Amino acid sequence: MLMTAAKSWIDEAQAILREGPVRVLRDVPLSGRTCFGIGGPARFLLAPDDPEPLAGVLGRLTGAGVPFDFLGAGSNLLVSDEGPSFVVVAAEALAAGPEIRGASVRVGAGFSVPKLVKRLQQAGLSGLEFAEGIPGSVGGCVRMNAGWHEGMFGQTVASVTTITRQGAIEEVVAGTETFAYRKSPGLGDRFVAAATLRLTPDDPGRIQERVLSFREHRVRTQPTGRKNAGCIFKNPPGDHAGRLIDATGLKGLAVGPAVVSDRHANFILNRGGATFKEVASLIDAVREAVFKQTGIALETEVIRWI
Ligand SMILES: Cc1cc2nc3c(=O)[nH]c(=O)nc-3n(C[C@H](O)[C@H](O)[C@H](O)COP(=O)(O)OP(=O)(O)OC[C@H]3O[C@@H](n4cnc5c(N)ncnc54)[C@H](O)[C@@H]3O)c2cc1C
Repeated sequence: MLMTAAKSWIDEAQAILREGPVRVLRDVPLSGRTCFGIGGPARFLLAPDDPEPLAGVLGRLTGAGVPFDFLGAGSNLLVSDEGPSFVVVAAEALAAGPEIRGASVRVGAGFSVPKLVKRLQQAGLSGLEFAEGIPGSVGGCVRMNAGWHEGMFGQTVASVTTITRQGAIEEVVAGTETFAYRKSPGLGDRFVAAATLRLTPDDPGRIQERVLSFREHRVRTQPTGRKNAGCIFKNPPGDHAGRLIDATGLKGLAVGPAVVSDRHANFILNRGGATFKEVASLIDAVREAVFKQTGIALETEVIRWI
């Protein structure tokens, strides 16, 4: 069913969510839940702590044509100042684990990746050292197939507990086609509720050395201390978006308080009070200038919520 006016999806959502059984927060400012520190209120923010009742609610929302999307740690999102025009489903209360059985680890979607990296190091399990410094949730990092250097989250994923938009809970066993560069085509548009990872046993001291070396490299090459969403653009094949932006002379380019980092050109920093529109127009200006200079059309990695 197609909703014709903004009011109609809100009314429909209200009627469905009133029935329960999933916890619903109202008018939640997303500026406090995104690493950019930007974003107006979510009219409805679902915070389920159990996949079963959530599945029922997602099925009903889909049946009524109510739009919704999923929130992890908000580290890859640029949210409009008016807030998203859909129901937000947050994974924050689905944060069980990690449950470690040998080299297999089951963990909830809302669990923090920096904490997971630490727990795996202590447990002597290798595979996610590269994720040191990625401030996402497990669900967001599975969905985005977050990565750095040679490492990608999907390389460690054995299976994913998902909820389809129609409300079915399904276990997806990861295969060679499940993940690609910064996306997870094999998961489609499903909600990630939990993941089972397969890691490699190793000495905790050696794992810690690798974690520290990734941390040192990140601190040396990336900006710290300002709100941002990590890399704005995906790397085009055979090149780096940051190198292209730098070579186009765009470091320091600003729209209001939003500025291209002079440490890593693929980062945009919110120096304080930047709006969605300011960041979005800076992104567009960078893309245009790089295209004019190099003929390469950069694709954004950061996701816009409007
Ligand atoms: C300082 C900094 C450094 C970063 N470094 C890196 C890096 O090295 N490598 C890298 O790849 N990224 C990096 N990022 C970007 C970001 O951390 C990753 O994209 C991460 O995977 C996003 O996870 P999240 O939980 O914050 O997802 P969100 O930002 O909340 O959401 C991102 C996308 O995933 C979807 N999503 C979130 N949770 C779920 C779920 N449970 N089920 C289904 N879909 C979901 C959202 O709908 C959205 O489409 C960095 C960001 C920052 C701020």
